[in-house]
Amino acid sequence: MSDKVFFLDTTLRDGEQTPGLTLTIDKKVSIARKLDEVGVDVIEGGSAIASAGEREALKRMAKEGLKAEVASFCRGLTGDIDAALSCDVDAICLVISTSKLHIEKKLRSTPEKVLADTVKCVEHAKKHGLIVDVLAEDGSRTEMSYLKKLFSESVKAGADRVCLCDTVGVFCPEKAFEAVQELRKSLKVRLGFHGHNDLACGVANTLAAYRAGARELHCTVNGLGERAGNAPLDEVAVGLKYFYNVDTLDTRKMSELSEFVSVLTGVPVAGNKPLVGRNAFAHESGIHVDGVLKAEGTYEPITPEMVGQKRRIQLGKHSGRKAIELKVKDLGVKATPQQLEEIFSKVKKIGDSGKEMTDADFQVIVFDVLQTPVEQHVKLKELVSLTGSNLTPTASVKLDINGIEKVSAAIGNGPVDAAINAIETALGGTNVKLSSYHVDAVTGGTDALVDVKIKLEKDGREVSAASAGTDIVIVSVEALLKGLNLLFGKEKK
Ligand code: MN
Repeated sequence: MSDKVFFLDTTLRDGEQTPGLTLTIDKKVSIARKLDEVGVDVIEGGSAIASAGEREALKRMAKEGLKAEVASFCRGLTGDIDAALSCDVDAICLVISTSKLHIEKKLRSTPEKVLADTVKCVEHAKKHGLIVDVLAEDGSRTEMSYLKKLFSESVKAGADRVCLCDTVGVFCPEKAFEAVQELRKSLKVRLGFHGHNDLACGVANTLAAYRAGARELHCTVNGLGERAGNAPLDEVAVGLKYFYNVDTLDTRKMSELSEFVSVLTGVPVAGNKPLVGRNAFAHESGIHVDGVLKAEGTYEPITPEMVGQKRRIQLGKHSGRKAIELKVKDLGVKATPQQLEEIFSKVKKIGDSGKEMTDADFQVIVFDVLQTPVEQHVKLKELVSLTGSNLTPTASVKLDINGIEKVSAAIGNGPVDAAINAIETALGGTNVKLSSYHVDAVTGGTDALVDVKIKLEKDGREVSAASAGTDIVIVSVEALLKGLNLLFGKEKK
């Protein structure tokens, strides 16, 4: 048997079982395409029996011509298998409850009956040409002798592979290792591991299972999944590379994949999530910035490029002089040592006030100290943004870009989107990308103060800006203009 490590991604099945999460057919298919791009081997795309929409999504994934196998979740019922067959998927994940607790309390059945039903299901699926993966649900709380028996009978009936599921995340790495090692002894087919994160060991258990011989690792993007979620795909793939030098997925695409799934699911990624979180390669403290500027490895275990991230120097009360100097240089201006000192103390003061500093805020401080007016390269002359019922949100703008007037209009999925689109159209050909847009209601109620934070990118340079006020359209446009003035200002110098 080959030693290749296979990945089964279940973002579109287990991940979609995240409380409150539901994806449209189009979104599911576009996520499946992204998963295929990073090199996932099996995509568990959903559960065919669940709904007509699920079947349609699975059918479309099966027709996409993906390199990955497309699989449907099935319970141990022939009806579920027939539903999967109607979608023309390559494979099924036949999920069988194996623990005493699940068999007695949930299924109200007996181990003997579950075994017989499993064999019947495997035979039925194999007769119709499906690849069959038998997943032992709650396998981590199942007697080893029964697990072995269920797996060996399944393989005898034609199952192509089997998988140990730590359904409620109760394994620790040692237990996961021991269980996989024991199961491997008598198995001739690929053994998988499906880890959950309830007790925060999802990734560690999955890596331990790999070490013990599991060769199909189940993961989800951003660790989406029921309760505390599943083992995150990026963390397991990078763990394999970092700890054991095993190449699997294209890790450089992990940040893009994470953001794509976050936007489509509406589930944000925590800033401190390993690898792809916003802060995973951000440095604020003076000691760390100084270290990273001298040698990146001092405070970065892997390069940000390995996961498609960027190093970021955040200014705040922990900043040192080195970071300030670097950021001033970034603005394309020169400051004397005394001016740098003054900028330094102003940054500290703002940090102490509890406010997060954006690049635009920093520019205001620097230009104030240098007694240079902040040049307005992009000025807003007019803005109209309309929305209503039975009306396509529409906006028109007039901008003055370095003395040249540009007028344009656009539609959007709301008044903010329309306004931003109109500005983007007016900027046409300037290569500016709005890479992030985030809005918070600072106070409650419909008269709430909103806080908009944005990030813009142009030719590999990223700037952040923020604005606050009561009108969400105006505030969004103000933040955008602050960012644009930073980008265009740098260009002129
Ligand atoms: Mn699960």
